[in-house]
Amino acid sequence: MTASGGLVVVGASAAGLAAAEGLRRGGYDSSITLVGGEPHLPYDRPPLSKQLLSSVWERERLQLRAPETYAELGIELRLGVRAKALDMAARRVRLADGEELAYTELVVGTGARARMLPGVEQLAGVHTLRTVEDALALRSALATRPHLVIVGGGFVGAEAAAVARGLGCEVTLVTDQHVPLADAVGTEVGSMLAEVHRERGVRMVTGSFVEEVIAKDGAAVGVRLADGRILDAQAVLVGIGAHPETGWLTGSGLSLHNGVDCDSMLRAGDGVWAAGDVASWPDPASGERLRIEHRTNATEQGMAVARNILAGPSATTFRTVPYVWSDQYDLKVQIYGRTRGADAVHLVHGSLKQRSFTVLYVRDGHVTAALGVGMIRPLRALRPLVAARAPWDQVRTSLPAA
Ligand SMILES: Cc1cc2nc3c(=O)[nH]c(=O)nc-3n(C[C@H](O)[C@H](O)[C@H](O)COP(=O)(O)OP(=O)(O)OC[C@H]3O[C@@H](n4cnc5c(N)ncnc54)[C@H](O)[C@@H]3O)c2cc1C
Repeated sequence: MTASGGLVVVGASAAGLAAAEGLRRGGYDSSITLVGGEPHLPYDRPPLSKQLLSSVWERERLQLRAPETYAELGIELRLGVRAKALDMAARRVRLADGEELAYTELVVGTGARARMLPGVEQLAGVHTLRTVEDALALRSALATRPHLVIVGGGFVGAEAAAVARGLGCEVTLVTDQHVPLADAVGTEVGSMLAEVHRERGVRMVTGSFVEEVIAKDGAAVGVRLADGRILDAQAVLVGIGAHPETGWLTGSGLSLHNGVDCDSMLRAGDGVWAAGDVASWPDPASGERLRIEHRTNATEQGMAVARNILAGPSATTFRTVPYVWSDQYDLKVQIYGRTRGADAVHLVHGSLKQRSFTVLYVRDGHVTAALGVGMIRPLRALRPLVAARAPWDQVRTSLPAA
């Protein structure tokens, strides 16, 4: 067992790395141990469904830091081993190999794992897209130009559809939403993006549930929809979201609902903090408890935890304007804020028809999000309105005529 305590970070990815690095660069002088269930140095996930899947990048390019950085920062790595349990009273983390790590402060950055359809984990030809291995397996499958059926109408599925079409695969995307991506961007922008996919040859099956994956000799050969239709497939990508990775914390005494429940400073318990996809916290701007699966949020929260550990009793509330992007074909979609729950969407710049525009999302009379396609600067100018939750009545009078 490590005798001295210090900082233990569980989850060697964007959030955990940001916390470990932020503490060391901020002057933390005790030991720092970064525990990662994957056997790899921390790497970036967004390119998995973009540059890595399309072979524009190779996996080395995904590394978040050069290998020598960890030793330079005095960060001890325990890779390829999962944390199994947390004893908060004794301030110890037990690893799968039996080792126990004592800590003074613990950061939970265990992220999320891809949801799978039940009963298909062992079937050849069924994919999820969360890890570098997942992406490389799907990339190999796409090289054989299969008919790819994508289950789920979110960003990851839409990005994979774009890449697969670029590689010449036949692609069908099945979603239970009536408009693909509507959950993420609303029906107006979702319809525009669906149209882009259709033009590029993606077949869209909307308002439909996949009831089962049909298998022959241990491999997927199609999917059956709830209405009885069968779609043949040589490869199936399940893109139906992710679960926060909290299983190892069961019984620890931490409050676990949709992720690890934190206070507004991202503290989850005595000496325990959480950051990134796994963390839920009361967002002071919206008054809602949020858990955000965005790359930028993972780094921001990891850095905020580092600052708060260093600040001791002067720790401060985590405040953010969430940011996410998605690349599909030649379109870059960028969003500040939260689009969900909006009751109106207003065009500000450009036109949806030309696929170059910004829109504002309004909920209960206040601006809650701004989305742009191909308009980086005008979109950035709208960010302060989102940050301030500006009243729409005031904003509308000051906007350029669209
Ligand atoms: C394919 C894909 C594309 C994406 N594209 C975008 C995008 O375009 N824009 C955007 O904003 N976001 C995107 N995201 C989301 C973004 O990648 C995540 O928000 C970000 O990776 C979260 O970082 P994290 O450190 O919180 O968690 P993760 O990156 O999930 O890392 C958690 C780490 O903890 C490890 N772990 C889990 N349990 C244990 C345990 N018990 N013990 C030890 N280690 C454990 C996991 O193996 C993993 O390595 C994408 C995600 C995916 C999967």
